[in-house]
Amino acid sequence: MTSHQRSGSRWSSRAWTCHFGVEVTRRLTLIRNATVLLELEGQRFLVDPMLDEAGARPPVENTENDCRNPLVPLPLPVEEIVAGVDAVLVTHLHRDHFDDGAVRHLPRDLPLYCQPEDEERLRSYGFEARPVRDSVVHGSLRISRTGGQHGHGATAGELGPVSGFVVDGVYIAGDTVWCDQVEQAVAEHRPRVAVVNGSAARFIDSEPLVMTTSDIAEVGRLVPTMIVVHLEAINHCLDTRDDVRRALPNAVVPEDGETVELPT
Ligand SMILES: [Zn+2]
Repeated sequence: MTSHQRSGSRWSSRAWTCHFGVEVTRRLTLIRNATVLLELEGQRFLVDPMLDEAGARPPVENTENDCRNPLVPLPLPVEEIVAGVDAVLVTHLHRDHFDDGAVRHLPRDLPLYCQPEDEERLRSYGFEARPVRDSVVHGSLRISRTGGQHGHGATAGELGPVSGFVVDGVYIAGDTVWCDQVEQAVAEHRPRVAVVNGSAARFIDSEPLVMTTSDIAEVGRLVPTMIVVHLEAINHCLDTRDDVRRALPNAVVPEDGETVELPT
């Protein structure tokens, strides 16, 4: 059995309610899409807040169906999601990662770590935007920014720039396909956990904009624990959770609202 397989079975996902009253210092809760609560070293990070009500926005243009986004509701009341958050990490400003709901509901005094290109817009909303060039220190933790490629060819240029982050051995890849920047990020930071955005989302006439299951498998060859998010919440996302589970039996694929314990 490879270490990858061991990790896959050992760190299986658990229900949100399992941990009440139990001291767990490293855990991840998937809210919806790429919106994740990450608890590390007593700090609670909210990643890529998409907090709109279900159906608040039109479908992504140039896609195969006309379902309004987000496709599914938040699994918890929005007040509960933002309560006790110490900092926000924003990989880029596409609306499935930072939307009007985030602008409405996030407290303005929270540190909001972002790529330098997004600082000005976030400040214009009144947020305490903190651009991360290479890395910054937050309390006892270092937050490092990583690169990515949001699709292939000209599409990636049009949709970029995008970033990811590494915090305490957890790599949040962001909206990227498997590419040199991802390989570099893994080689440099040697994360124990990778949170990757699946679904192979695409426009009618484009190649995938984020990871396919084969892309995720490439990351999985290098990182012991894979958590796949960004599924079944936006209308141009194609792969379902079941597709990912079938293709990658060792990956952790949480449901909305589900909490996963992270390896120490
Ligand atoms: Zn996305």
